[in-house]
Amino acid sequence: MSMVKEQISRSQQMMGLEDKYGAHNYHPIPVVIGRGEGVFVWDAEGKRYYDFLSAYSAVNQGHCHPKIISALVQQAQKITLTSRAFYNTELGEYEKFITSFFGYDKVLPMNTGVEAVETAVKLSRRWGYSVKGIPDGQAKIVWVENNFHGRTISSISASTDPSSYGGFGPLVPGYVIIPFNDLTALENALKDPHVAAFIFEPVQGEAGVIVPDTGYLEGVREMCSKHNVLMVADEVQSGLCRTGRMLACDHENVRPDILVLGKALSGGVLPVSAVLADDAIMLTIKPGEHGSTYGGNPLACHVAMAALTVLQEEKMAENSERLGQILRRELNAIPSKRIKLVRGKGLFNAIVIEPQNGITAWEVCLKMAELGLLAKPTHGDIIRFAPPLCITEEQLFECIAIIREALLSFD
Ligand code: PLP
Repeated sequence: MSMVKEQISRSQQMMGLEDKYGAHNYHPIPVVIGRGEGVFVWDAEGKRYYDFLSAYSAVNQGHCHPKIISALVQQAQKITLTSRAFYNTELGEYEKFITSFFGYDKVLPMNTGVEAVETAVKLSRRWGYSVKGIPDGQAKIVWVENNFHGRTISSISASTDPSSYGGFGPLVPGYVIIPFNDLTALENALKDPHVAAFIFEPVQGEAGVIVPDTGYLEGVREMCSKHNVLMVADEVQSGLCRTGRMLACDHENVRPDILVLGKALSGGVLPVSAVLADDAIMLTIKPGEHGSTYGGNPLACHVAMAALTVLQEEKMAENSERLGQILRRELNAIPSKRIKLVRGKGLFNAIVIEPQNGITAWEVCLKMAELGLLAKPTHGDIIRFAPPLCITEEQLFECIAIIREALLSFD
């Protein structure tokens, strides 16, 4: 008994430390994770949970994947950081690997997702001036409503969520925002000759897994080509097998001019992001005009090659596609009044909760945590279901039973 008491106080102690010494810029589910393996994480008291968030899709390959950890350890014992002041033994090999993996001439390596988005914005503006011929200082970027591209001033300037941009102005000028999934609005916006790029998520993640209509991605490609505007796909969350294809754009066989990747590019081991483009775009940035101390570090390069190899070798796109269909079918069959809507693609899914009597998505998440499954609400009424892509069918059915029990407990 005293053992249990002591263990409980360890989690509470950890939460207390975060509360006292950390900035209050997050509102976590009250579970303190100390270990992870595959689809599972364990809290400080040793209770096991299914992870249905996958660190916002950064651990698509599963927690502490042995091949990725082995690449990390091997490289960490040789050299971790050289800066780009010098060449390193891993970067060139990684650049060759990732450009042939995704079919682009060049890659620009960064660290976090938002830095890669920032890089895409800079590349787009530069291309706009030096190739498209937009008058200096007048380039525009078109974005969509309810987007999420990270937390820098540049990314929040594109946001339509006041909790992202409110109180942080002045914001970046030259941004135009149109509705998502609206090709007419896109066509109208792209007619402006000062537009350099259209930047969007092919499936909107933080908005609550919003999947556009079939044909949208093809339409975007067509309009960007027609109006000589760069199509920039932010696949930081939707990419790397999450939606049932290597890239969400692959669902419509569409190739963006600039591809932005992050998160699972390292399998959740360290921040690794990348911007891919062809020479006509990438070579508009010259030495000394952009970079990052850690971008392209040997540790990241070595890990990223392992992370991409695991996705392919373990057929995670296929697993995501197949199990995603089962998940949505089974979620739709739960006879709960709390479920307003189920949507998603591959293992990138969300349910919209019908709030009632003070029961919101938050309470549902707490109940699921109690039953051994971790998920996080977004926008108050949406719960994202995005387990690691190594999940098996048997494990998925166990998870569905937990979700079902949690939801029905409120009816
Ligand atoms: N872009 C998209 C689509 C994202 O979902 C995110 C993070 O959730 C980002 C960019 C920012 O990535 P990071 O948090 O690594 O900066």
